[in-house]
Amino acid sequence: MWRSLYKTPAQLRGMVEPGLITAAALDAVAAAIAPGATTGELDAIADQVVTARGAESNFKLVRGYRHTTCISVNREVVHGIPGSRVLAPGDIVSVDAGAKFRGWNGDSARTFVVPGGEDADLVASRERLSAVTERSLWAGIAALASASHVGEIGAAVQGAIEASGEDYGILRDYVGHGIGRKMHESPTVFNYRVDDLGPEIKPGLCVAIEPMIVTGSDATLVEDDGWTVSTVDGGDGSHWEHSVAVHDGGIWVLTAADGGASGLSDFGIVPVPIGS
Ligand code: MG
Ligand code: MG
Repeated sequence: MWRSLYKTPAQLRGMVEPGLITAAALDAVAAAIAPGATTGELDAIADQVVTARGAESNFKLVRGYRHTTCISVNREVVHGIPGSRVLAPGDIVSVDAGAKFRGWNGDSARTFVVPGGEDADLVASRERLSAVTERSLWAGIAALASASHVGEIGAAVQGAIEASGEDYGILRDYVGHGIGRKMHESPTVFNYRVDDLGPEIKPGLCVAIEPMIVTGSDATLVEDDGWTVSTVDGGDGSHWEHSVAVHDGGIWVLTAADGGASGLSDFGIVPVPIGS
């Protein structure tokens, strides 16, 4: 019953370009993160990259959503709507973007702290939150290289959060997912330990791993705009995500220009290009 979870080598090759386009869109956003920039301007920058490379925004294909990115600031964790909000020094900003190219999808998110914040303790706290969240993402990706079942990814993510020594919350109401012809496919990829380990990890599996981590309670609410997910207690949020492929030769991070080489080096894993 899980056969459709696993892509053929030719299908995996189709996943490469949308991943790279997604990475390029986030690179462009990263270069534009500055005090005074609006989230709407950042969204336009991402959209320009996606369309210039002949792709389309897959976020715009989500019913009712009209933007190329989700941009979530401070107590917002995910699904923030870009617009007139002006970034301030020291804000923590999570940018989630995706692209669809020739029928295949990429999906990735990064968190930034806007330069120039004057409250050194707050800036340090936010940089730490982002760094630990990113680390947990790479721990989850590294698990793909050796684990036998998808549920082990969440155990690795949670383990990395716990190993940080920080008392962070892991969102439970939002999870990662398979990715392919659709941006959101089976299987569900939890960011925490689960009893049911789910489907096997084997060549052809493509998943978007995306820990959503907060400084306090994991309780969230959806704002009146119907999209933005914020912490109830006002704690800060961070969101990091990559789309990753498992293939005959190993794993390859589709939404990292280097295939994940730098992020995985701490884990002793060398990503292998698809088709090599
Ligand atoms: Mg995403
Ligand atoms: Mg996703």
